[in-house]
Amino acid sequence: MAANDLQMFQFIKRDTRHFINIDPLQTAGLLTPAARDALLEWGDGYSVCDYCNGALDLVKKPPIQEFVHQALPEFLGTDAARVMNGARESKFAVMHALAAAAADKNNYIVMDAWAHYSSKVAAERAGLDIVLTEKPDQEIMPGDFLKAIETGIEKFGKKPLLTLLTYPDGNYGNLADARKIAAVSHEFDIPVLLNGAYAVGRMPVSAKDLGADYIVGSGHKSMAACGPVGVLGVVGEEAAAQLFRKSAHNKVKEIELLGCTSRGAPIMTLMASFPEVAERTKPVHWEKEVHLARGFIKKMEDTGKFKLFGQNPHNHDVMFFEAPGFFSISEKTKRGRYFLYDELKNKQIHGIKPGLTKNFKMSTFGLGQEKIDFIADSFIDILKKYDEI
Ligand SMILES: *Cc1c(COP(=O)(O)O)cnc(C)c1O
Repeated sequence: MAANDLQMFQFIKRDTRHFINIDPLQTAGLLTPAARDALLEWGDGYSVCDYCNGALDLVKKPPIQEFVHQALPEFLGTDAARVMNGARESKFAVMHALAAAAADKNNYIVMDAWAHYSSKVAAERAGLDIVLTEKPDQEIMPGDFLKAIETGIEKFGKKPLLTLLTYPDGNYGNLADARKIAAVSHEFDIPVLLNGAYAVGRMPVSAKDLGADYIVGSGHKSMAACGPVGVLGVVGEEAAAQLFRKSAHNKVKEIELLGCTSRGAPIMTLMASFPEVAERTKPVHWEKEVHLARGFIKKMEDTGKFKLFGQNPHNHDVMFFEAPGFFSISEKTKRGRYFLYDELKNKQIHGIKPGLTKNFKMSTFGLGQEKIDFIADSFIDILKKYDEI
């Protein structure tokens, strides 16, 4: 490319930044003001490495050591924790460590039917086969896991290395009974990983309380961090020693972390947001989020033009609707299925994928009553505009 053309890569404005955001991926990843400051201050490459002696988690200034070894395990309900590059890297680290420690090959892991693609590619990359639970009508039940474990044992002649529960799943925002599912798994002496990409940083969640052995979270999805960044917690000294085993060639470098993970603005924004994130996940605040989500769902269902999929009453801010009214409009308007995106853009609402009308997911996290009302009223306005109600 000519030098002049390269200018196009310079500062690029993001036109949706000031919109009301209802994209489940983004609602809980918005930076706090402190994190936005940290992003600028620590944005230069390797900025946190000034006082590092080779182990990121032991850096004292900035206080990464206190964060990783005190605040984070306490927050996750684990004995040990690390900051990783994402939820997926955390899952891969666990799976790879278990696969590496296994006596033989041909291992597998059991996952819920709603498992995220990143859980599957993590398993593939770790050389593990996957047995999924059957797709349930509603939420995943402990019995579904029992069946999947038995299916796996029959097929592979041995138990899986791990069971993984997506908590909640990222489509419907269903919270399965993690405690019972963990208990089922433990009856077979199989460790449990909780994929909390949509839980950690949004709602109260503790690996120990739920009986999980590992928990992963996503900083850029649910912890108000710029990312890529994630968190990984582990219960039990033995499991921690296996997961965080060190290189034979460099005594301070942890193998599954490839020696070092998040080293710059991502971890600094994660830490800068943490006081607010720790506060917002307290039961009193989360209950309010759920209350607001339920109010929104009721208002939408009262129109007769929306139906919630999944647990109802709902227990999470991620929600999936069937919207026959919007679908019917898409069939009669010129812009077709892109009409909804256009209408919402006019109202400065961002986050429903362009082209979706019949089914879509959204989130009300952190918006508060006023903005949630605005969204509900906007949906209703659109239905009215096209004579659907
Ligand atoms: C978003 C998401 C992930 C991926 O998180 P990263 O931190 O981007 O790796 C994993 N699992 C679920 C259920 C998700 O929704």
